[in-house]
Amino acid sequence: MPSADLVITGKRVVTPDGVVPAAVAIAGGLITAVGDPGAAPDAARRLDAGDAVVLPGLVDVHVHVNEPGRTEWEGFETATRAAAAGGVTTIVDMPLNSVPVTTTVEALERKARAAAGRATVDYAFWGGVVPGSDRQLAPLAHAGVRGFKCFLVASGIDEFPPVSETDLRQAMTRLAELELPLLVHAELPGPIARAAASSAAGDPRRYASYLASRPRAAELEAIELMVGLCRETGCRIHIVHVSAADALDGLRAARRGTLPLTVETCPHYLTFGAEDIPDGATAWKCAPPIREGENRERLWSGLAEGTIDLVASDHSPAPPGLKCLETGDFLRAWGGVASLELALAATWTGARARGRDVRDLARWLAERPARLAGLPQKGRIAPGCDADVVVFDPDARLTVEPTRLRQRHPITPYAGMTLTGVVRQTFVRGTCVYDREVFPAGAIGKWVR
Ligand code: ZN
Repeated sequence: MPSADLVITGKRVVTPDGVVPAAVAIAGGLITAVGDPGAAPDAARRLDAGDAVVLPGLVDVHVHVNEPGRTEWEGFETATRAAAAGGVTTIVDMPLNSVPVTTTVEALERKARAAAGRATVDYAFWGGVVPGSDRQLAPLAHAGVRGFKCFLVASGIDEFPPVSETDLRQAMTRLAELELPLLVHAELPGPIARAAASSAAGDPRRYASYLASRPRAAELEAIELMVGLCRETGCRIHIVHVSAADALDGLRAARRGTLPLTVETCPHYLTFGAEDIPDGATAWKCAPPIREGENRERLWSGLAEGTIDLVASDHSPAPPGLKCLETGDFLRAWGGVASLELALAATWTGARARGRDVRDLARWLAERPARLAGLPQKGRIAPGCDADVVVFDPDARLTVEPTRLRQRHPITPYAGMTLTGVVRQTFVRGTCVYDREVFPAGAIGKWVR
C-alpha cells in the first residue's frame, strides 16, 4: 500500500464489494488504498475502529438549509453540524425555502456566499424549476447545480410556485439536453381538492384529518404523469419522498422499461405509522403525510427489492411558532420533519429489525444518493474517492433528547425514542469533523461541483 497521512482500520469496513476487515489509507484528503489490515502502511495518524462499522460518509440529497433569508428556520452552521453528528458528510441543499429561492445564478451565488466558511461538511446545491424559469436552467447547470427540483402542488411558499404539465415538458426537454435530473415533489392538486370537497374538514387537531386531506391518489396520479413525461422527453427524473406505497406497482413496471427514473423515501415514512400519531402532535406533519403502518411495511419491501433506490432525510425545519405546537392544529402547521442528525440511526433501527445489513445502509444513504447528485468522488470507500468516512457503532443505543440535537430548533417526532446505532467519528476528506460530541475541525466544508 502507498504511504498515508491517516490509516483507519476496522473489522467491518463497508466497501462496494462487501463488508470486510480492511485498512483504509488516506493521503491528501483522498482514499489511496483499501487493503489487508496486516499490510497497512505507516502513517502519522492511525485509528483502529475495532468492531465498529466503518461506513462511507453519507450523502443526504434532500436538505432544506433555508439560508439566506430564513436562517431563523435553519442555517448552514447548525444544519451541517447536525449532519456531521449524524454521519452525513455531504448535503445537497434544496432550492427552497431560502430567500431568494435558487432559480437564478445570482441566487445560487448568494447561497454559496452564505455557506462559505460556515459548513462543517461538504455541500452541493439543487436548482429550482418554476413557471418561466426555462432560460435559467443552462446557466445554473454551468454554475454547478447537480440537478433541479420542482413541485406539482403548492410548495408552502409563494416564491416557489408549482409547475404545469406544459412547464414540465419544456423544462424536461432542456434538462434531457443538459443531462441533469429533475427531482419532483409528486403530489397533484386535483385529488387534494377533491378530498377537500368530498368531506367535511374534521377536527384540525386530529392527525386523521390531515391524512385524509392528502390522499394517496395525489401521489399516484403525479407519479403516473411524471413517468409518462419521462418516457416522452428522456429526461432523468427522481421522485422525492415517496410516501404512498400504492405507487410502487407503477414504479416497478416503469423501471422494467429501463426509464431513467429513481425513487426516494424518508426515515419518517419508514419509522412511524399514522395510527400511532397523537392528536395535536404537529411535529409529525409533513407532505406527503406519514401513512398507515401497513403502508410503511410495503415501503420497506420497495427498498429491499430496489424499486425505491435511496433514503434521504427531507430535513425541513421551521420555528416552533410555525409548527403550531401550542394549538396542535395540523391543518395550519408548517409541514416538515427535521431529521438530518437522526436519519442514519432511524433507518438503521428499522432496517436491522427487518433483517437488513450495513451494506444496505451504504447503498441507500451513500452510494446511490452520490450517483443521483453526480458526485462520483463521494459515497464509497474506494481508492480515488474523497476520504469521507464514518465510524458507526451499530449496537449502541441512543435516546433522542431534542435539545441535544444540533439543528436550530429542538422539534422532532423522534423525541424520547430509543434508536439503535451511534456515530462515533465522522471524517470529511480525511479530517475528523466530529468525534464523540466534539467538532474538532470547525467549518472545513466545501462546495462540491
Ligand atoms: Zn423537501
